Amino acid sequence: MYDYLIVGAGFYGAVCAHELHKAGKSVLVVDKRSHIGGNAYTERTDGINVHKYGAHIFHTNDKMVWDYVNQFATFNRYTNSPVANYHGEMYSLPFNMYTFNRMWGVITPDEARERIDEQKREYIEQAAAKKGVPVSEFEPENLEEQAISLVGTDIYEKLIKDYTMKQWGRPCTELPAFIIRRLPVRLTYDNNYFNALFQGIPTGGYTQIFENLLEGIEVRLSTDYLDPANRASLNEIAEKVIYTGPIDAFYGYELGTLEYRSVRFDTEKLDKPNFQGNAVVNYTDADTPFTRIIEHKWFEFGLDEAGREIPVTIISREYSHKWEPGEESYYPVNDEKNSALYAKYREKADSDTKVHIGGRLGEYRYYDMDTVISRALEYCQEVLK
Ligand SMILES: Cc1cc2nc3c(=O)[nH]c(=O)nc-3n(C[C@H](O)[C@H](O)[C@H](O)COP(=O)(O)OP(=O)(O)OC[C@H]3O[C@@H](n4cnc5c(N)ncnc54)[C@H](O)[C@@H]3O)c2cc1C
Repeated sequence: MYDYLIVGAGFYGAVCAHELHKAGKSVLVVDKRSHIGGNAYTERTDGINVHKYGAHIFHTNDKMVWDYVNQFATFNRYTNSPVANYHGEMYSLPFNMYTFNRMWGVITPDEARERIDEQKREYIEQAAAKKGVPVSEFEPENLEEQAISLVGTDIYEKLIKDYTMKQWGRPCTELPAFIIRRLPVRLTYDNNYFNALFQGIPTGGYTQIFENLLEGIEVRLSTDYLDPANRASLNEIAEKVIYTGPIDAFYGYELGTLEYRSVRFDTEKLDKPNFQGNAVVNYTDADTPFTRIIEHKWFEFGLDEAGREIPVTIISREYSHKWEPGEESYYPVNDEKNSALYAKYREKADSDTKVHIGGRLGEYRYYDMDTVISRALEYCQEVLK
């Protein structure tokens, strides 16, 4: 009999497994995939660590979490500085003085601020007039209105409008304003996207972190807990279950299905050393069907494990699409309807004494890796009290 059965070897499951095992509990981990690491899994091909489920850049302001992950890998100094390609015009992200200089030729923060404010003002005046309300009472009602009233028309048209439509599969006028509460406008020449205190990529990829977290712990791969052939027998051999898969799937979708946006990754090896000169390039126009291209080698500065330059490169084009049940669930759609459905499932889960449901799929929330780690640590602290 195991003290804990942990379903899922992503960050939530692997951190729980590590902490519980360290505290002397017996633990069995199962994952339906053929590998550990969940969505942070990286696979080494031709000396390049390929982020199989999309680019994963570790960033956090939490020193405790940063120290924690650094026990399991050495992180490099990678700083996320994506570039946007709009019909061949290249813009720095997040929106900063390099972006504004490329967009309008302005040089000083005052000039940039003036441009943005002028465009915002003009737009809000017109939109308020159309709605028949005074400017002071103008409230953005959709994502387009929200975005333009934060950053002005030019940035919206070239860098937000079509990219967001590709991401969510709907025009910005049909998306709720709350999706972008804030749009950081940086009046400095600073391309550091995350602005976090700690940031980097584990040298040699993420998978080693999971190998180290799970050292000495029994792991069964290619084992779907929800498969009726496995579920009852797995439940029987463990006192408690920590489940990190989709919460609605755990309950057989009995209250309904939670929606996601999904992503398809088309990965290709190219017989050249450099394709786009940056790890992340977003395609912000409507004509390009994919949202971005990741060139994996640049997360580790184009060098292999021995520090040698790699003569080839591997790229992944990311296509955002509507999620269908049975596909990989990537981004939860936290609108009113789905949030209400999730609340019902959460109520059921919270009254279940045998199972704890956690992680990004279990909580139906987009969590970055640092948050997932911190939540797993909090949970373990609680149960080990
Ligand atoms: C495209 C994309 C890009 C991202 N980029 C970043 C980034 O740059 N920085 C960042 O901090 N975060 C990023 N994230 C978020 C990051 O992936 C998550 O924070 C992290 O993976 C969550 O860990 P988890 O353990 O909760 O879930 P997961 O990593 O999804 O692990 C869950 C595991 O459970 C397994 N499982 C599910 N159901 C079953 C079942 N029935 N039986 C057995 N096993 C099961 C799955 O196979 C999976 O391995 C990104 C996410 C996505 C989707």
